[in-house]
Amino acid sequence: MSSNSETETVVVGAGPAGLTAALALARYRQRVVLVDSPRAPRNSASGGVHGHVGLDGAPPAEIRSRAWKELSRYATVELREADVEGVRTTDGGRFHVALDNGDTVEAPTVLLATGVVDIHPEQVDGFSDCWGRSVIHCPFCLGEENAGRRWGVVVDNAELATFSAVAFRAWSSDTVAICHESMPGLEGARTAVRSMGGDVVTGTISRLLHRAGALYAVEFDDGRVLERETLVWTPAQRQQPVVARAVDGLKLTVDDAGYLSVDDTQCTGVPGLYAAGDLASRWKQSFTAAAAAGATAAEAIHASLIMNAVRG
Ligand SMILES: Cc1cc2nc3c(=O)[nH]c(=O)nc-3n(C[C@H](O)[C@H](O)[C@H](O)COP(=O)(O)OP(=O)(O)OC[C@H]3O[C@@H](n4cnc5c(N)ncnc54)[C@H](O)[C@@H]3O)c2cc1C
Repeated sequence: MSSNSETETVVVGAGPAGLTAALALARYRQRVVLVDSPRAPRNSASGGVHGHVGLDGAPPAEIRSRAWKELSRYATVELREADVEGVRTTDGGRFHVALDNGDTVEAPTVLLATGVVDIHPEQVDGFSDCWGRSVIHCPFCLGEENAGRRWGVVVDNAELATFSAVAFRAWSSDTVAICHESMPGLEGARTAVRSMGGDVVTGTISRLLHRAGALYAVEFDDGRVLERETLVWTPAQRQQPVVARAVDGLKLTVDDAGYLSVDDTQCTGVPGLYAAGDLASRWKQSFTAAAAAGATAAEAIHASLIMNAVRG
């Protein structure tokens, strides 16, 4: 049977942003409903989360279940496993949060912390099998685990091709940039990269050849095969459907690439509605950055609820 309840804050999503915010709000003794999807989170393909002090290399599922256990010890926190389908405002200036199991929760504040969706290139056979293992989106996250192998870096601009020839040497002395023939500035990039001991290979990748997710070669649509053991490939991203709907329904402001715009307190343009983590940041996506944004949002939410109470 579905239930309609109310709380002080609904946190949507239990990645590092949502978990950190929920923990901070719990320690302020505020009432929180934390709703997380039963679907596998974005970083579940990875064997371990790297670069967060005290947790370096811990598997994502282990971190989540440990955090879930920690939160369950706080009397003011309620944990729910469900997909949030919609967030809308009510006539009374509160938020109405609808879950896919029919439950609804009303609250004066909501934190969106749903992360983003990576769009795997469907036309590239093998991409999803290698993702998070030998196809990596970020050398900070998984470079160490792929060090000493033959790398390819999929680029779409000349600056990145040149930058990667220098930056990725730290992990691999055999790195080539891979791009389309039509990339502007290709010849200049090729000259610069070659002067640094690297190379630029052009073509359209059609297949990744791998053994159980361990890449050994890249195949182009003209049949050429290039031996590579690691690909750095950052696919496009999109917002989770619930956020895309909130952007339309609540007229949220987004940047040119579709990431939510927030102020220094992680508040969107809608009073009481906060957003933290990857969904509000294209270039600062990490476990630590998301946790920090979640903590900032929680502090601001706490202050706003106190001020509301003071004002009556
Ligand atoms: C393969 C891979 C490896 C990575 N490795 C590292 C690493 O080693 N170190 C590092 O610092 N960073 C790493 N990252 C990046 C890091 O995982 C993210 O930056 C970070 O998890 C973002 O946190 P977040 O809280 O914003 O979102 P997420 O961690 O994506 O969490 C969002 C949560 O919201 C839930 N959710 C989504 N929609 C709904 C909904 N409608 N209702 C309810 N819940 C919903 C999701 O299921 C998920 O649990 C990696 C990313 C990937 C893809």
